Amino acid sequence: MSGPSIARIAVNVPLSLEFDYRIDGETPAIGGRVRVPFGRREQVGVVLSTADSTEFDIKKLKSLKAVLDNDALLSEDDLWLLKFCSDYYHHPVGEVVAAALPAALRQGRPLHETVEHFRVSGAAGDTLSRAPKQQAIYDRLDAAGEDGLSATELNVVEDNWRTAAKALVERGLVERFDAISSSRRPELASQPGPELNPDQQAAVDAVSKSDGFGCFVLDGVTGSGKTEVYLQLIESTLARGEQVLVLVPEIGLTPQLVNRFEQRLGFRPALLHSALTDNERLDAWRRARDGSAPLVVGTRSAVFVPLMKPGLIIVDEEHDQSLKQQEGLRYSARDLAIARAKRAGVPAVLGSATPSLELLWQCEHGRYTRLPLPVRAGGARPPHIRLLDTTRDPGVEGLSNALLDAVSKHLEDDGQALLFLNRRGFAPTLICADCGHVAECHRCDARMTVHQRQQQLRCHHCGASRPIDASCSDCGSAELRPLGEGTERLEDALKVRFPDRVIKRIDSDSVQRKGAIGEALEAAIGGDADILVGTQMLSKGHHFPKLTLVGIVNADQGLFGTDFRSGERMAQSIVQVAGRAGREQRAGEVLVQTAFPEHVFWQRLIDSGYAGIARDELAVREQLHWPPYSRLALLRSSAHQRHDAMRFLEAARQRFSRFEGLTVLGPVDAPMARRAGRHRVQLLLQSDDRGLLHHALSHSRRALEDLPEARRVRWSVDVDPIELL
Ligand code: ADP
Ligand code: ZN
Ligand code: ZN
Repeated sequence: MSGPSIARIAVNVPLSLEFDYRIDGETPAIGGRVRVPFGRREQVGVVLSTADSTEFDIKKLKSLKAVLDNDALLSEDDLWLLKFCSDYYHHPVGEVVAAALPAALRQGRPLHETVEHFRVSGAAGDTLSRAPKQQAIYDRLDAAGEDGLSATELNVVEDNWRTAAKALVERGLVERFDAISSSRRPELASQPGPELNPDQQAAVDAVSKSDGFGCFVLDGVTGSGKTEVYLQLIESTLARGEQVLVLVPEIGLTPQLVNRFEQRLGFRPALLHSALTDNERLDAWRRARDGSAPLVVGTRSAVFVPLMKPGLIIVDEEHDQSLKQQEGLRYSARDLAIARAKRAGVPAVLGSATPSLELLWQCEHGRYTRLPLPVRAGGARPPHIRLLDTTRDPGVEGLSNALLDAVSKHLEDDGQALLFLNRRGFAPTLICADCGHVAECHRCDARMTVHQRQQQLRCHHCGASRPIDASCSDCGSAELRPLGEGTERLEDALKVRFPDRVIKRIDSDSVQRKGAIGEALEAAIGGDADILVGTQMLSKGHHFPKLTLVGIVNADQGLFGTDFRSGERMAQSIVQVAGRAGREQRAGEVLVQTAFPEHVFWQRLIDSGYAGIARDELAVREQLHWPPYSRLALLRSSAHQRHDAMRFLEAARQRFSRFEGLTVLGPVDAPMARRAGRHRVQLLLQSDDRGLLHHALSHSRRALEDLPEARRVRWSVDVDPIELL
């Protein structure tokens, strides 16, 4: 028997190693899964390569237990991306592979598994006329014929289709069955869109002309028609028989986008996001891989999904922080999307009304192409921003008289108002009126937020909660007062002021229940709600046709931020939420409450918009040598005892100080030094030379894993951190 004798396997363990196993029987496919003995257990791993020799004693190597895939599950390009991710983020390759695979495959289940399907089994006649949801599902199934539709295909994001399907089954109109879902590519049945304006056309042309890879930053103000540009590019890519991958920050928050894709293209895109069941995710993943899903829309981790024939990668709202994973494997889906497009030789299109400074800087240096869409499509006018000085007009419960008057006026004119406050709960602080003591979390260096509805104090950092304190823990006084405003308090104040109006609060507390977010957004979009109160959940990509007024209740939180990105973040969040106003024919108004109306930030934002802020911020970054003018990696460590966390990073510091040209700052306590009962310490690595930073990290990662100090801590490497917390 010939063939390679050694297989090199990615095993899901926190060690930066590939593991060698002996091949005794069948030769496994590279990129396929195998079962291997590991320690006392068995693990599912993926074959990265095979070889004829090993640096270990071959007699001592263990053998593969079983080959799980006859063919490669992951292609050469897929493996390349996973290795690139492992190298770039200095994260164990086995954990990267595990993060990229759907749970079902990670557990060793077969790729071709049957999934739940539904098809019509009886004539409905007009029996469903009073059940519109059931009628809609029935019609879809009827159109799909004998093969029916899989649960994945039925996954209408905003609605609970399962309830309707169950009712239909009970009525005997529909039957449920298990089958391997179809590998047919759906027919393209595109509806024509609006004629593009010259800016949109120029953007489409630039991307279409790109021969192979190109990175395009679609810098379009809110409502400028970025989605129309995506749609045109998607259509022409699909018409060539190629696939498109669209990454979005959160699908649950933007059902409108998926619905629009479906309406225009005539089929439902395959969706990949966290609310799917394991089987649904496997199904969508398989259809992306075998090419039968021409369009895949997914959140962050969808960047890893195999594609049979990629033709275009789009990242929508590329500035959004949720595209960067902040725990475990800390990767930027946007940056990986660019790397992937480059490898595949296809264009990457990154859209935003508030592009990241890094991208704008790349455009300035000619590496990426900026495609500006400076005006709103369809004739809508840009919203007008005005400042309200809260030192002169503090108002009540955080709402100035000027803002309340504006709300009245817009409602009388049959408009809709949105009040934005990025703080959920009733009040951010519970303070003792006698001694000034503030209720704190027992496990974090943080204040407890008052949640009046639940009669609880909650920590927004570790999730701890307790009943609202009856008396001050310091002086025993019973005079405890909620101080400051959260969205609950605003909602109450608005109900008092506008008792006859429909007020909807939208934040992560109000949309806990499944389906709640969809209902709330429906009320907001349909215009049933007069006033919307909410956190940044309300700022993302929504199109509220009736909305004419946006009030930013407390804009000062970010003005004096300590993180070098706080200015950028604040500008993004204000411009995004402001962009919800006046997206149709009626002009929008944006009112910003601030105690610092003279601050240069506001002046710049009003004079020159986001682009002006971006220029200012880049100048500051250049002066202070922050990214993109330098490169960063942040090592974090946490432990129950502060000295354990410290000792590990001191040892790390010693290693890194050997590299000339690398600035090593710390270790120091993290800005929030204690969280969830653990002490947190960090070490910052900075260099002008990206190559050097990566050289230092890749020469140290294994050594750090083996440090005796590492055993007592949790630690991580964060390359290109977006928060220094
Ligand atoms: P963005 O994604 O930049 O926020 P959209 O693509 O959602 O913008 O477009 C905003 C609105 O303008 C939508 O209602 C869209 O249908 C409309 N629109 C976009 N492009 C055009 C166009 N070329 N002509 C007319 N209306 C357009
Ligand atoms: Zn007190
Ligand atoms: Zn806490």
